[in-house]
Amino acid sequence: MSEFKNPTTEQEYHRNFEQIKPLMNDTQAYYESSRCLFCYDAPCVTACPTHIDIPLFIRQINSGNTAGAAKTIYDSNYFGNTCGKVCPTEVLCEGACVYNLQEVKAIEIGRLQTFATTKVISENKRLFSSGRSNGKKVAVIGAGPAGISCACMLRSKGYEVDIYEAQEKPSGLTLYGVAPYKITNEEALKEINYLQEQFDFKINYNIPFVSGEQFKDLENKYDAIFLGIGLGETSSIRIKGEELANCLGAVEFISELRINQHKTKIGKKVIVLGGGNTAMDAASESARLGAEKVILSFRRSVSNLRAYYFEYELAKSVGVHGMFNVSPVEITGNGKVEGVKFARTKVINGKLENIPGSEFIESCDMVIKATGQTKQVGILKNISGLKTDELGRVIADAKTFQTDNPKYFAAGDVYNGGVEVVNAVAEAILAAKGIDNWLNS
Ligand code: SF4
Repeated sequence: MSEFKNPTTEQEYHRNFEQIKPLMNDTQAYYESSRCLFCYDAPCVTACPTHIDIPLFIRQINSGNTAGAAKTIYDSNYFGNTCGKVCPTEVLCEGACVYNLQEVKAIEIGRLQTFATTKVISENKRLFSSGRSNGKKVAVIGAGPAGISCACMLRSKGYEVDIYEAQEKPSGLTLYGVAPYKITNEEALKEINYLQEQFDFKINYNIPFVSGEQFKDLENKYDAIFLGIGLGETSSIRIKGEELANCLGAVEFISELRINQHKTKIGKKVIVLGGGNTAMDAASESARLGAEKVILSFRRSVSNLRAYYFEYELAKSVGVHGMFNVSPVEITGNGKVEGVKFARTKVINGKLENIPGSEFIESCDMVIKATGQTKQVGILKNISGLKTDELGRVIADAKTFQTDNPKYFAAGDVYNGGVEVVNAVAEAILAAKGIDNWLNS
């Protein structure tokens, strides 16, 4: 039985989805920063995909130079505030902290990062400005972490940048795809506004790219084009019953939750299909929305979960039950979901197989498929010369992020297939440098 009641008001929603990494106060930040050993060749820096100078910003916090700390963070990562909250720090910077070797709690780097950047955002402290105009124009498709990071770096180098976004708000995944107990809508949007005010890039909303003519038009108007378009909808698992009412994709469910918050409908008993981080988020969110029972089902054993183990622990801590070595073969019901027919699985000669005759039905009134996302291959086909790999990811140079059509650069989910926000930021900054080098070669 879930410990959460279905939230019916905004206040109840925020209580159920309380931030798991709450903002530190000044004393907490001073105390935590004073624990840092300011290591030489710090492993936490190496573990960060954007290589923020962590000991430096922690020392700056400790000496009361919070704005300096924020500048250090933003110099490496334009999504410093967001990443402090949504990064899997447990396996990145904090996972690498030397304190782990001595069985002492790692420094809370993520929360310190959010502490410093929240201060400058709330005070609207100006840390950056755009570079002197160089007369060149770049179009950025997608206002998510990759697109915005690329835009910031290009603006700092004097490029005129126009962003085109299919949705009506910016932030991409951080607004529509991250669990709300990691970052609120307000926080995600505030960081974008903060960056936009300083770097002065334009964002054109509600402009999906669906035709070759649109790309041709951009090619005529701009010197280079950056693709930061992310991933598509939840992939089909091609079993009977997927079309039934109350069978949803996890991405669509999370997006609805981020937009409609406490008005999001949830079943009494929810079965989540999948073993990745999105499955963990969807399961935790179902419990926090007040589902009486949430089952997370996965085809393999618990040790084979693709999700970070701490995400599974987080889901369990809010009452999610794991059901392992079961494969869905049908979603049952008459018009709407009534259950899932599973077969038990086992590994035979290294191959996962359903055990004949092992089928059983687990009743439920909602199914959430967290079974991966489609790639935006349909959109990418409209760009001449652009190549994708067998998984639908755009092929681009690993250092410059230039694609086989030299005018196009790509980074983030469309290039890496879907990793973390911090990876999208790191790649997009390099892509912006790649664009700059190419346009000046
Ligand atoms: Fe500080 Fe830990 Fe990084 Fe060392 S590894 S600099 S103690 S955060």
